[in-house]
Amino acid sequence: MNEYDRRHVWHPYTSITDPLPTYEVAGASGVRIRLADGRELVDGMSSWWCAIHGYNHPVLNEALRAQSEAFSHVMFGGFTHAPATELARRLVDMTPDGLEYVFFSDSGSVAVEVAIKMAIQYWHALGRPERHELLTIRGGYHGDTFGAMSVCDPVTGMHGIFTGTLPKQRFAPKPMARFGEPGVGANSGVRADLEALASVLEAHVGTIAALILEPIVQGAGGMWFYSADYLRGAAELCREHDTLLVFDEIATGFGRTGTLFAAEHAGVSPDILCVGKAMTGGVMSMAATIANDRVRDGLSRDGGVLMHGPTFMGNALACSVANASIDLLMNGPWQANVQRIEARLRAGLECYRSHEAVADVRCLGAIGVVETKSPVNVAEMQKVFVDQGVWIRPFDHLVYLMPPYITTDEDLDTLCEAIAPALDLLLS
Ligand code: PMP
Repeated sequence: MNEYDRRHVWHPYTSITDPLPTYEVAGASGVRIRLADGRELVDGMSSWWCAIHGYNHPVLNEALRAQSEAFSHVMFGGFTHAPATELARRLVDMTPDGLEYVFFSDSGSVAVEVAIKMAIQYWHALGRPERHELLTIRGGYHGDTFGAMSVCDPVTGMHGIFTGTLPKQRFAPKPMARFGEPGVGANSGVRADLEALASVLEAHVGTIAALILEPIVQGAGGMWFYSADYLRGAAELCREHDTLLVFDEIATGFGRTGTLFAAEHAGVSPDILCVGKAMTGGVMSMAATIANDRVRDGLSRDGGVLMHGPTFMGNALACSVANASIDLLMNGPWQANVQRIEARLRAGLECYRSHEAVADVRCLGAIGVVETKSPVNVAEMQKVFVDQGVWIRPFDHLVYLMPPYITTDEDLDTLCEAIAPALDLLLS
């Protein structure tokens, strides 16, 4: 490990005095990540859901180069430019119906902060400032800034450390009905999940600004896939109780779950949508918060303006590479690829269901999850993966794959097979 880095650089979610090991990267191309020591790894993570087209893509590189020769960045206050306008047009066209008004920011967490501000400012402008709380479901993850963190799962989001500083929000139970579990019949799991949500909403509706959740796939909070009927029911409850609905598709957007946006599994559209991560193909940090007419009109009443404006808002390099990435996606066979990956992951991971250390195996789109009975030792398991030539980053009770959409069947098999010796660690 690079000694200077180990002593001086904070890495995510690890000690600064006794950090987890890191592996130094020298290059990355396609689905291969090359380490400084010359070893090559098959990427199973898309760098936390971002690199959907793989690394070092010539089309994305060219978009960056061309834009950098015109200009890389200008302030977005008082200026605009074609890359931003074109990206807004693409996002409006491709996202679910009704989402029309785009706010650009520089990371997913900030996109969530902006969504929260939109919801709170909406009710403020309508003369209902007491509607400033958020409702969410347990098991969620929305980012690491304070507003976003306040709606993360209180346990995995470690709210205990920040009690007193963190805004207090309202939590409904995590929906337990799985994706694909149908119906809202009298005895269905979906019905029970929705009743639990309704009771929290009804008890606090006078103070709740919005329900915020990750549609269908709860990502970093537990890699859980829940019923589309639940999502539909939740949207219906928001309508009945005149509450705004915010979808965080930062992880699920741009095809990952098999539809362009996960909301499409339920055929619903939120009032506010957050996107990020894969928007630039994993090349630049960029996110967006997109609102509908209701939010625009409410917030703007009596001259209201959205109070946000990050320095790197609408960064032209990021917009250009996002435009190129979205065109690559929309003009290519992404859906066939995601379906192919889903089938291959199902076939390749099913064998682990009977493994003594495994609690559950589930796949949806280009996401494959092996949930373990006991928590993994990240450093130890990571080394087993790297020694086999794959990049898989487990956490908590989860070993999961989220490969770039261009991953071949052969590489998918390599990724799936590498999990066997890693799981055996949990037996010793
Ligand atoms: N929302 C979701 C659903 C996410 O998965 C993430 C990142 N893992 C975020 C928000 C935060 O995004 P960022 O890390 O870009 O701030």
